[in-house]
Parts: sequence; structure tokens; C-alpha cells
Amino acid sequence: SIPLSFFGGIGGASKSGVLVKGSNYLEALNSVETVIFDKTGTLTKGVFNVTEIHPKNDVTKEGLLEYAAYAESYSNHPIAISILKAYEKEIDKDKIEKYDEIPGHGIKISVEDKEILVGNHKLMDKENINYSKIESIGTILYVSVNSDYIGYIVISDEVKEDSANAIKALKALGVKKIVMLTGDAKSVGEKVGNQLGIDEVYAELLPTEKVEILEELDSQKSPKGKIVFVGDGINDAPVLARADIGMAMGGLGSDAAIEAADIVIMTDEPSKISTAIKIAKRTRKIVW
Ligand code: ADP
Ligand code: MG
Repeated sequence: SIPLSFFGGIGGASKSGVLVKGSNYLEALNSVETVIFDKTGTLTKGVFNVTEIHPKNDVTKEGLLEYAAYAESYSNHPIAISILKAYEKEIDKDKIEKYDEIPGHGIKISVEDKEILVGNHKLMDKENINYSKIESIGTILYVSVNSDYIGYIVISDEVKEDSANAIKALKALGVKKIVMLTGDAKSVGEKVGNQLGIDEVYAELLPTEKVEILEELDSQKSPKGKIVFVGDGINDAPVLARADIGMAMGGLGSDAAIEAADIVIMTDEPSKISTAIKIAKRTRKIVW
């Protein structure tokens, strides 16, 4: 039988905004050795703002933003939300004929007789677009229309106020390695990683590559050590499911993430991870 205090632990956690889906996960939290964070929406606010618009040739800034907004109009990615917010105008969705969201790359869409691509350099490379790669500390969205490169938009996100303390608290609790994974550019990932004191940063990853890195980190830890992955769930359900303990941040998290997760953090505060570990340690003291 399961000791009553386990239920006490789960109940205590839920009062603190941490929903634990089984007592085995609470027990596993006692042995956390590695914590892997997704970047966007987990350590950062996931609220991007458009900071620069750079059209090419005879395209105007408004025109470039309009193409991007049409392309993003069906996406719920934080990037899409920022573009639609900057555009401000109505989108005539009847004009959209074909829509394709390519995880870790961006969007491909047909509007009337035009094929629009909006995404990162991987998308431009994959589609053989003749563009020039921009080095920036912001996230770059390249835009092409009928295979012609028409310019780029710079967007940037902010680190959550809570993130630095969350990482300090995990280190104080004895977590050996703190890692960040992101599909975003290397320059952006490294800037956030340095700012927060993260041990290892892996950038420009596709969802499947996030799983591969988790497996690599899994082979490096001690046999009894556990790996936590924390994500907002947009494009990271596979890695959430593969971690010893998958945590979804419920504040912004998608339904798929909440489903795939073992533990749901009901707010958007990463410091709830150390809260959960503390509750697990307290629960164990009562049980043994
Ligand atoms: P993260 O790992 O930071 O959460 P994602 O895996 O969601 O990032 O996305 C990785 C990258 O793929 C983004 O930084 C962006 O370059 C590109 N991308 C993903 N979705 C979109 C979109 N809707 N529009 C444009 N680019 C996108
Ligand atoms: Mg994500």
C-alpha cells in the first residue's frame, strides 16, 4: 500500500501550484541530477516583440510585415503571436489556400498565387532561397515570396524575472547539471544561458534532436540520478515524454504538453521546480 503521507505530498504540491500525476514522480524528485530547460516560454517569457524590419529591394516595411502576418495567421507559436500583434490589421483568411507549419523551421503558406516562407535560416536553406545570413542577438525571421528573398524581421523575447533564482535554487538543492535546449539561434541561446548561469546550452535543435540530447545526457548521469525536462510544450512533447520526469509549464503550456507531462506547473514560474523538489524531500522524511 502507498503511505498516506505520499498523498499528503501530492496534495501539498498542488497547493503550491505543482500538479504531480503520481507518487512515483514525487519519489523520483529526490534524486534529480540533471535539469533540462526548454528556452522559449519556459526560461523566457515567450512574448516576442518585433524590434527591426528590414525589407529588400522595392518591398516596404508594411509589405514585409503583411506577408509575415499572413504566413503566421494560423500558428499559435509565440513567434506568430508577436508578428500578428505588430501587424495590427485584419487577416483575410479566405485568401489562404495552403498552410504548412514545419517544426523547428517556420511556415510555408500559399496566399492567392504566392507561396510565402517565413522562418529561420534552416527553412531558407531547405527551400534553396538565395538570402544572406544575419548575425544578431535577436531571433531572425527570414521571408521569401515565390522563392525571392524579400527581407528579414528581428524579434526578441525577455528572460523571466524568476528564472535566475530558479537556477540558483536548483544548484543549492544539489542538482549537478543545468542544461538549456532551444530551436532558436545559437547567439540567442548563448546570451540567455550566460545571463542565467546555465552549464550547457544546445541551440538550433529540431524536436527530434532535443530527444537525442536528452538521451546523451541520460547516458552521462549516475545510474540512480534522474533527469527532469521542463518545457512549455510547443514542439517539445516528445522530449517531455522521454524524460524521467517531464514537467510542463501550465501558464502558457499547450494541452498536448499537459497530457504528455508527469508534473504540471500551473503557473509560469520556473522556481516551482525547486519548490517541488523541496516538497518531495519533506515527504520522504515523513515516510521513512
Ligand atoms: P524553442 O526550442 O526555442 O521553444 P521551437 O522549437 O518552437 O523553439 O522553434 C525553433 C525555431 O523554429 C524558432 O526559433 C524559429 O526560428 C522557427 N520557428 C518555429 N515556429 C515558427 C513560426 N511559427 N514562425 C516562424 N519561425 C518559426
Ligand atoms: Mg518551444
